[in-house]
Amino acid sequence: MRDSSSSDLALSRCLLLVVGAVLLGALWAYTGWSIFEARERAKEAVRHDAANLLEISGQALARDFEIYDSSLRTVADRLNKPVLEETDPELRHLALFDRISQAKGYGSIFVLNDRGQAYLDSRFIVPRRLDGSDRLYFTTHRDDPHAGLFVGRPWTTRISGLTMIPLSRRLAYADGAFAGVIVGAIELDYFRRMFDRLRGNTRLTIGLEFIDGNVIVSNADLAPDLMMSLEPEVSGFRASTQVGDLPLRIVVSVPAETIRAAWLPRILPSLSIAFGLTLAILAVLFVLKEELTRRVMAEERAVAAQAESERLAATDALTGLWNRRRFESALELWVKPGERQGWALLLLDADCFKGYNDVYGHSAGDIVLQRIAGVLMDRAASHGGSAYRIGGEEFAVLVPCTDAEALVFAENLRAAVADLAMPHAQHPKGILTVSGGLAHGSHMPNVPSRAWFNAADEALYAAKRQGRDRICLAAANHAKEAGWAPLSLRAASA
Ligand code: GH3
Ligand code: MG
Ligand code: MG
Repeated sequence: MRDSSSSDLALSRCLLLVVGAVLLGALWAYTGWSIFEARERAKEAVRHDAANLLEISGQALARDFEIYDSSLRTVADRLNKPVLEETDPELRHLALFDRISQAKGYGSIFVLNDRGQAYLDSRFIVPRRLDGSDRLYFTTHRDDPHAGLFVGRPWTTRISGLTMIPLSRRLAYADGAFAGVIVGAIELDYFRRMFDRLRGNTRLTIGLEFIDGNVIVSNADLAPDLMMSLEPEVSGFRASTQVGDLPLRIVVSVPAETIRAAWLPRILPSLSIAFGLTLAILAVLFVLKEELTRRVMAEERAVAAQAESERLAATDALTGLWNRRRFESALELWVKPGERQGWALLLLDADCFKGYNDVYGHSAGDIVLQRIAGVLMDRAASHGGSAYRIGGEEFAVLVPCTDAEALVFAENLRAAVADLAMPHAQHPKGILTVSGGLAHGSHMPNVPSRAWFNAADEALYAAKRQGRDRICLAAANHAKEAGWAPLSLRAASA
């Protein structure tokens, strides 16, 4: 019973565990999915903003470079007009640089001769001194007739302190020989302002860099080093687009940190709810488990109490042996007809016990009964059987054995009681003894249990008649009366 309660408890705990695991699994699967969704949405929004920003800024920048390039071409075309060479310098300056775009951020345009010396300056009639012979834009055009519009590396002017990016075109004589360079510049702050304006309140970083990866300008720039390389976005997002046909590209990037900052706060409420629910589920599971354990323990205690009260109801209070009621049910239930071939039934009765009580008193008689019971209990148990007190000084033993073993067992039992050598003044032998009647189930396999008992009882009385302190087998005359196979009556004791 205890085992089945324990396995019920284990099963119920298992069920609780499974239910808890399913609930928590479902909760966290949903939470995980929500987090994944929020992250994907944030990434998608970033991708969308980045694509828009790339398109708008790409167009704006391409247009700016085109406008500036067109200014350079216009000036270069006008230089080819021979009439201008004889014109007054002021008029010539006006004619060359008239309507050249002067937007804020566009720098001056210089025209350099084939030695790199500036001889025309869009801002002053008398040109400022500029020796560009060692500049990359000059050497590039000098060495490569097909360089087209050349975008140089940014540099910071000594006069204004502004950082500019040079744009230049080659000038050639009619025969194609190198005639110098026309060079202008755009302020990097111009791009920076434009990027800031276009970026609006998105969290994107936007920059302009050469195709080779060298950064020209970025709104993430804090250091004055404009030639640094952008850190590759390991887990963030980065996209780029080329500016027209120029060796430039616009790069839009956003670090993973920024993307996380966009979605993490949004999932915090769901996370808090999930944690709260987890704690609640764990608490409920814990309470259920405790309640379950408490119930099963109470049930186990009730079962144990019931078993104990049943045991007490079947036990003789004086000797601790099983009582008569238990003996009857054992005879009926445990040793049924057809199953009793392997069992012996031994009935025992204390000899001249009335006389013992008379001489030594009832209490002393009780102690004697307890001592006899102790011997019976030990012997029966060691043979896998049971001992019973079935009357005042009458006992029974049911023990599994063959008929030959039964006789030895019964005789030993009788001798063990005699060996206690309890003095008995009213007994012819002077000590307390028992007589016994033995009936082995194999000799009467199919009779009712009452008849089996009666056969043993007859044998017991035969032992009394023959002088006590002896064991008799089931009486032949009783067997004859009942129509069973006759057994020879034998006294087992001397
Ligand atoms: P026999 O050898 O023929 O069995 O003689 P006996 O004196 O034992 O038989 P009898 O039936 O005349 O007496 C049984 C006695 O057992 C009577 C009674 O006082 C005693 N007795 C029965 N139950 C108890 C008990 O619980 N305690 C004590 N001390 N004596 C008991
Ligand atoms: Mg008796
Ligand atoms: Mg007696």
